[in-house]
Amino acid sequence: MSGMMEPNAGETVTDVAVCIIGAGPVGATLACRLARDGIAVAIVDRAALSPMENPEFDGRAYAIAAGSKNLLEAAGVWENLPQVACPIEDILVTDGRPGEPPSPLSLEFTREDSKQPFGWMAEARALRVALNATLHASPLITLLAPTEVSIVRREDGVTVRATDGRVVNAQLLVAADGRGSRTRSQAGIPITKLPYGQSGIVCAIAHELPHDNGALEHFLPAGPFAQLPMSGTEDHPYLSAIVWSEKDAMAQRIAALPDAAFRRELQRRMGDRLGEVTPVGRRWVYPLSAQYAQRYTDTRLVLAGDAAHGIHPIAGQGLNLGFRDVTTLSELLIAAHQKGEDLGSPALLARYQARCRPTNMLMFMATDALDRLFSNDNPVLRLARDVGIAAVHRLPRLRKAFVKHAMGV
Ligand SMILES: Cc1cc2nc3c(=O)[nH]c(=O)nc-3n(C[C@H](O)[C@H](O)[C@H](O)COP(=O)(O)OP(=O)(O)OC[C@H]3O[C@@H](n4cnc5c(N)ncnc54)[C@H](O)[C@@H]3O)c2cc1C
Repeated sequence: MSGMMEPNAGETVTDVAVCIIGAGPVGATLACRLARDGIAVAIVDRAALSPMENPEFDGRAYAIAAGSKNLLEAAGVWENLPQVACPIEDILVTDGRPGEPPSPLSLEFTREDSKQPFGWMAEARALRVALNATLHASPLITLLAPTEVSIVRREDGVTVRATDGRVVNAQLLVAADGRGSRTRSQAGIPITKLPYGQSGIVCAIAHELPHDNGALEHFLPAGPFAQLPMSGTEDHPYLSAIVWSEKDAMAQRIAALPDAAFRRELQRRMGDRLGEVTPVGRRWVYPLSAQYAQRYTDTRLVLAGDAAHGIHPIAGQGLNLGFRDVTTLSELLIAAHQKGEDLGSPALLARYQARCRPTNMLMFMATDALDRLFSNDNPVLRLARDVGIAAVHRLPRLRKAFVKHAMGV
């Protein structure tokens, strides 16, 4: 590649094809996928990426759709998961109010709607361990972490300088540095934000009865409440993750309740489907908001994952959307690499944006509309959505279309 920057005294220079900023699930998976097809990559994170990190169970988990699992397999990450991910084989969608039985008009997706599970629940720390182990094992991946970097992008290439004196020259820079992406703001790419005034309480729960690999999405006036099945542990054979949305102040109040009172509020929303429930481990509160970048590209730069879009977690699809970016980008880069083409050319960047942004915007609008429809106690809207839920339930073809879309296949 032309246009390499000359090193200063004391600097070591590595030439790679792609440099990724951010080793979260999106950036790390992209690095592993590209390295698998012989593309040299550098990946930068301001946090340390320990290969063996396995802190205590902390209750956070991801729902991984079938399309995302295929990507993680192709990237060599799935086989490194330290424990088996729990398949989701049944999803029950209901509508109601806390402390009352759900509306009788419910929607159930079962194994008959799909040949394979709808998704898999993996603990966030398990995915982290698998990603870091795969990053460390690949000779084609240069790790720069923990470090801060300065970036110069030119028409003919990118130079990334770390504070420890290492320098990376690349054809393309990928910003995968999350919602508050500094790489995106430094490139002057504006974002549009939609605050919801809602927060998600996230924790794990142990329950009396087995979940049979079933998930629940219960729509309540303050926001959706989701229970997602997880693989059990020795201490808690029947375990699930929950994402429970409430108005901001209420979420903080509920999360701070003493155990017995928190358990009571939880049970009012869960009902008795899984018997008695007990919260396990830490409780997390995340402010929920949605945002999207006005464009995904700039000179020798693409945005991927949360740096490009953050959606309402109503459908648990945030990370899956990021994995779709990774699938598209890696297909384009691997094809260009095989033909010996420039991986940062304006034509390749334009193809990436054209293939990802319209579909991501569609998901953005769909989750926003779902939230507005369901986070509401208006009786007319309640009736309309119950009739809608029941109608989808009765129409097998529509159900299958819903399922295919959510699975990312
Ligand atoms: C309550 C809640 C529940 C969710 N549940 C689900 C779910 O069930 N399923 C799902 O698919 N998604 C879910 N999501 C969304 C999911 O968490 C995100 O979409 C996902 O983490 C995005 O991954 P990412 O790699 O793009 O960004 P991040 O995970 O934010 O990673 C960014 C990385 O970049 C690094 N970084 C940041 N700034 C810099 C910098 N300046 N220099 C170097 N490195 C930097 C960070 O250290 C980090 O490692 C949920 C989100 C919330 C809030």
